[in-house]
Amino acid sequence: MVNQKSLEKYAELALKTGVNLQKNQAIMINAPIDGADFTRIVARKAYEMGAKDVHINWTDDELTLLKYENAPDEVIGNFPEWRVKLHDMYAEDGACVLSIRSTNPDLLQNIDPKRVALANKAAGEAMKNFRKYTMNDKIAWSIISIPSGDWAQKIFPNQSREDAIENLWDAILKIVRVDKEDPIAAWDEHNATLKAKREELNEKNYKKLIFKAPGTDLELELPEGHIWKGGSAVNESGVTFNPNMPTEEVFSMPHKYGVNGTVSSTKPLNYGGSVIDNFSLTFKDGKVVDFQAEQGEEVLKHLLESDEGAKRLGEVALVPHESPVSQSGLIFYNTLFDENASCHIALGKAYPTNIENGSSMSEEELDKHGVNDSLIHVDFMIGSEKLDIDGVKADDTTEPVFRNGTWV
Ligand code: ZN
Ligand code: ZN
Repeated sequence: MVNQKSLEKYAELALKTGVNLQKNQAIMINAPIDGADFTRIVARKAYEMGAKDVHINWTDDELTLLKYENAPDEVIGNFPEWRVKLHDMYAEDGACVLSIRSTNPDLLQNIDPKRVALANKAAGEAMKNFRKYTMNDKIAWSIISIPSGDWAQKIFPNQSREDAIENLWDAILKIVRVDKEDPIAAWDEHNATLKAKREELNEKNYKKLIFKAPGTDLELELPEGHIWKGGSAVNESGVTFNPNMPTEEVFSMPHKYGVNGTVSSTKPLNYGGSVIDNFSLTFKDGKVVDFQAEQGEEVLKHLLESDEGAKRLGEVALVPHESPVSQSGLIFYNTLFDENASCHIALGKAYPTNIENGSSMSEEELDKHGVNDSLIHVDFMIGSEKLDIDGVKADDTTEPVFRNGTWV
């Protein structure tokens, strides 16, 4: 069993560095019922830190699946009003929100994708107001992960359930730096590194990045006014928090009409319960004009055909090859982990916050500035120890940014 002291340290890290809980503040926690023991530790610590209210929204994979298997469409497609009110009430009160995840990547693989889409659409529409609080950093929020048996055995398929869970705990705790003597200090240092990197890149203001690796020769234009982000964020009340744990990336947006060349994946991509592996995409003027995959080519085709924006890029993220996620050598089948193991790019929607004034631009303005829009945002990994990246400056001179998979 994972030892109690490590769990206490992880809970404290989530509360202090993750959501940065303040005295007399309420906290809403989304947690899996299988993680009740850990969640109770978090709740106890939250009260010890002075939280005025700790509210838990329990989830259960088994019950979620049962509902999808049995409930009629009108129930699946209905997101109850009381749930919306609950979230809005806590947000209005300035609560922070901590999500504890233990995703089973295959949970809904046998459910009609139409029903899943129906539920997602209903939730998306109902939670519009609440999402403004998180997406625009009005309140402090954070997502952390803990193992579940199904997820652990997906990563360690040849191990017993107990061993797999144990090994996944070890991997997660190491990746989020809880194995360090003082994880909070380790995160302060890590955030300072990410901040220095993003500030350096913002100052350089490269107009283009050139990626070279086996199977990859890609030129990626960065739009005027693009912004590099990464690491901790600051909410409306000036409280610093960390939306994702782990996070190892600094990221910005490519110009939706300015991507040319070919890029090859370096890790499998789990998309909608299927794996796409050893694939490459060829771009012309920002759009995918050719693609191939050793595994999952049909799935990749559907992904690219999702809508117009699905054939264009919405994110470019730089992650050094020696990141702790990468060092684990594991494939997590969970984007929150896998994208932090490797440089990646994303097909689909760009974050408007990655460009000056993006949050207040109309759809036409976003398009004019090269900001891609789509219903999808799918990250895939292109980094390795063989990746070199060059930056092209405003005066057309070129300098190395990455060599052998890491910062120069
Ligand atoms: Zn990313
Ligand atoms: Zn992304």
